[in-house]
Amino acid sequence: MVTFLAGGTGTPKLLHGAAEVFPPADSPVVGNTGDDVELSGHLVCPDLDTQLFADAGILDTGTWWGIDADGGTTNDQLHALAERAGLDSGPRYLSEEAQTSGRTIARWRRFSGVAEFMFIGDVDRAIHLTRTGLIDEGYTLTEATRVLCEAYDIDRPLLPMSDDPVATIVHTEEGPMHFQEFWVHRRAEPAIEDVEFRGAENAEPTPEVLDALADPVVIGPSNPVTSIGPMLAMDAFREALHETPVVAVSPFVEDTVFSGPAAELMAATGYEPSTSGVAEVYEFADAFVLDSEDGTDLDRPVVRTDTKLDTPEDSDRVARTVDEALAEVT
Ligand code: GDP
Repeated sequence: MVTFLAGGTGTPKLLHGAAEVFPPADSPVVGNTGDDVELSGHLVCPDLDTQLFADAGILDTGTWWGIDADGGTTNDQLHALAERAGLDSGPRYLSEEAQTSGRTIARWRRFSGVAEFMFIGDVDRAIHLTRTGLIDEGYTLTEATRVLCEAYDIDRPLLPMSDDPVATIVHTEEGPMHFQEFWVHRRAEPAIEDVEFRGAENAEPTPEVLDALADPVVIGPSNPVTSIGPMLAMDAFREALHETPVVAVSPFVEDTVFSGPAAELMAATGYEPSTSGVAEVYEFADAFVLDSEDGTDLDRPVVRTDTKLDTPEDSDRVARTVDEALAEVT
């Protein structure tokens, strides 16, 4: 067994064509839940869902989020109605009191359903409604995720990092905002001052996650701050990584990032935005997979390949290199 840690892009891309090297049933994924939001009363788990949709064969691989060819009738009508009613369509946070009452899993990330600021497709929505319905019936997020995986005949264990709420709040020059407001609504524009993982001090990794972390761990190319940071913010999670062999794939080629706001987020949290900075964040990692063009000198074993992940062939190549790196540390 080899356990993968995942945000919403890099690890799902790595696993997309890696089944020969890492068979899904033996390659559990621990997914970040710091990006989750409750929108219109239902829980949206973007990172878990990207992996779920990818394994179900229904992911929109053009965007790496949402369901391929999903309809948007409900979303269109929400916006049309808000416009008619003269209601502003920015992210509409619920009040502080409403943030902390009701379902604990959703606290500090609750948004009104008026003119939803994130696009939720119609099929996508059915999944969120079912997940939230199960949680309301008493299922944990871990159990609800298992039900959804079974519904799509997925062999891979897909494990939320925690059943407790952790909300990634980006502190910017314009004030604090939930990661989804910063990323989806503001398109990563406001200058970042700091990042907070609200709730992490009271959150625990689940027993299923701790069990999975007893096996060797691979961190696919991920945003170290907002995808892996919420996991590392839980002491028991970080301690478990110190006790097990860990291989990390860099999301950078030296100081150039493949995509997304990882560089800005690292700089704002006190790390060099580069492969060296990633190695500093992952002080527990035992080996790294770097791009062939990345000459960074690290104090731990390094295996190099072309780390571009555009096709299933790319995934297979990078997976074989990850396997080589694992062989050096296990
Ligand atoms: P998010 O949840 O969508 O923010 O994404 P992740 O945390 O899963 O991954 C984001 C990181 O993946 C970014 O820092 C990118 O640089 C990196 N990334 C995206 N595509 C590739 C790729 O093809 N190769 C490598 N090595 N990294 C990539």
